[in-house]
Amino acid sequence: MNWESNVRKVVPYVAGEQPSGKVIKLNTNENPYAPAPGVSALLKGYDVSLLRKYPDMNSSSLVNALSEKYNVKPSQIFVGIGSDDVLAMAFLTFFNSGKKILFPDITYSFYDVWADLYKIPYETIPLDDDFKIHPEDYEKENGGVIFPNPNAPTGVAMDPADIRKILDHNRDVVCIVDEAYVDFGTESALSLLPEYDNLLVVQTFSKSRSMAGLRVGYAIGNEKIISYLQDVKFSFNSYTMNSLTLAVGAEAVRDDEYFNTTCEKIIRTREKLKADLRELGFEFPDSKANFIFATHPAVSAESIYTELKKRNIYVRYFKKPRIDNYLRITVGTDEECDELVRNLKEITG
Ligand code: PMP
Repeated sequence: MNWESNVRKVVPYVAGEQPSGKVIKLNTNENPYAPAPGVSALLKGYDVSLLRKYPDMNSSSLVNALSEKYNVKPSQIFVGIGSDDVLAMAFLTFFNSGKKILFPDITYSFYDVWADLYKIPYETIPLDDDFKIHPEDYEKENGGVIFPNPNAPTGVAMDPADIRKILDHNRDVVCIVDEAYVDFGTESALSLLPEYDNLLVVQTFSKSRSMAGLRVGYAIGNEKIISYLQDVKFSFNSYTMNSLTLAVGAEAVRDDEYFNTTCEKIIRTREKLKADLRELGFEFPDSKANFIFATHPAVSAESIYTELKKRNIYVRYFKKPRIDNYLRITVGTDEECDELVRNLKEITG
């Protein structure tokens, strides 16, 4: 039994449930709309003999499409298997000083898992009672900073001036802005890249591009920061991105019109859902993401979650300090949200 004392023991991240069958699924911030139409056409005509060979190690087709879209050099882009893979690589690469890294106490619950996995010390910085990040809290000595913008699971976006303040006070460490939900109405930190060589911006195809199942994420930064990330990645696994994913991903990036239309649709539905929830007495911080983090003054979040589930409607509930009376509700189609509201009215009425 002695071998067990040598095992790396970790408490893994727990993702939201993936129920099968006919349910209204508003629990993992997936996009309710299909990927760009060109994706389906590409898949139908895909030449499978291409799978015979190893994929392009440099992921050039996808990287070039992203480089055009964001107007940065291909050497400023790193791609991975979803932003989870990109973020995990970034933790491994940049948070290596032995000093504590900083992130909010209420945030993406994978950050502490990666920190534990890689034995990176960390300190969580409490959000205020309105779930806001205060840049002054990030002025202490640290080994790196990471936060999502907008934050998850709160949906609260930061003032661009506050991001700048955090960067100004942390020039000697890498600061990662996780922009998984940025396309639903938040200003990206990408415009700050020319000024801050320690900034890494991470985005994903999982939410705004309707492709959580494809697993594509990317980081954009200056050439030096990206080359360090590449060195670690190529010391880990050369072929993370498969040929099919590269082709499909590149095709999706090129369809800006479809992308803008779906994002606008989700924003419109989100604003309508906010009004409907408010009418039922729910309270929530203003969300700029594709979800709303809501609490009800009279009925507990846990009981609403359980009751909704009985009715085949899935939302996310976190039994965690400070947020155990909140539900994270993904914005679905108008019809799905109307059905949710109809059920919430019965449950809370
Ligand atoms: N960052 C945040 C804040 C998220 O909520 C998620 C989704 N779980 C991710 C990153 C990872 O998303 P993906 O790996 O699908 O790109």
